[in-house]
Amino acid sequence: MRKYLLFLLATLLFSSVNAFDSKSINITRSLAYDAKKSGISPQIVKEIVRIFSWKIDFSRDLRRGDRFIIIGNKGAAPKAIIYNSGKKRVAVFSYVDKFGRLNYYAINGKTLYPSFLRNPVKYRRISSKFQRKRFHPILKTWLPHRAVDYAANKGSKVYASADGVVEKRKYIGALGNAIYLKHGANYVSVYAHLLRFARGLRVGKKVKKGQVIGLVGSTGRSTGSHLHYELRYKGKRKNPLTWHLPKQKRVPAPDLRRFQSQAREILRNFR
Ligand SMILES: [Zn+2]
Repeated sequence: MRKYLLFLLATLLFSSVNAFDSKSINITRSLAYDAKKSGISPQIVKEIVRIFSWKIDFSRDLRRGDRFIIIGNKGAAPKAIIYNSGKKRVAVFSYVDKFGRLNYYAINGKTLYPSFLRNPVKYRRISSKFQRKRFHPILKTWLPHRAVDYAANKGSKVYASADGVVEKRKYIGALGNAIYLKHGANYVSVYAHLLRFARGLRVGKKVKKGQVIGLVGSTGRSTGSHLHYELRYKGKRKNPLTWHLPKQKRVPAPDLRRFQSQAREILRNFR
């Protein structure tokens, strides 16, 4: 009886795995080139870039021999996509929410993209908005201000606006003490005129959304204590107050266990 049940279980597992077909992109030149060679549609390539750019910098990190496995793509949206470089593996799995929206989540049930705070400091007022021209109080000339200035008390805490990695942490001329945080391949946030940096904050270190990274000051070209904050997307400065910021999604708790067991089953079969 027990043997029979095991057999049944194995058959079920086997058949459900067989329900997935898969295609691989083996990187020899570039994602676009190798995807085309493997018969992967440009739409899926676009989707791969959109999802994985939070973990992979496509212009720098991709190496010959890296592999993307696209699972369960019978013309429809993939069931799962796995990136494997030998050293690093990033895997996402599709989940359709109650509104019928399909999205890709890591095995922990969270999207790869993080949430962003709108304002990285508790401020008194916004002293300068994002604008094409403003009269600079020190330089006495009209210049674009592609940032937001938050007037805040000296020593106020400055928070990382999203999970990221410290890219720069140093005195940079007019910006004074400045921190650059990198969030995925496309976003950078900049915090300037800081009084000082949080202890232990080093280039290359990971930070969490809401983590204190420094204190408001007036270093560099500044007339009073404030935080100069920039949001850059693909190298271009965007208005942090109006830009449509990513917001992390999660698989709802009641579905998480089922989602994770399916994800584990896929991982067992596609390495
Ligand atoms: Zn400013």
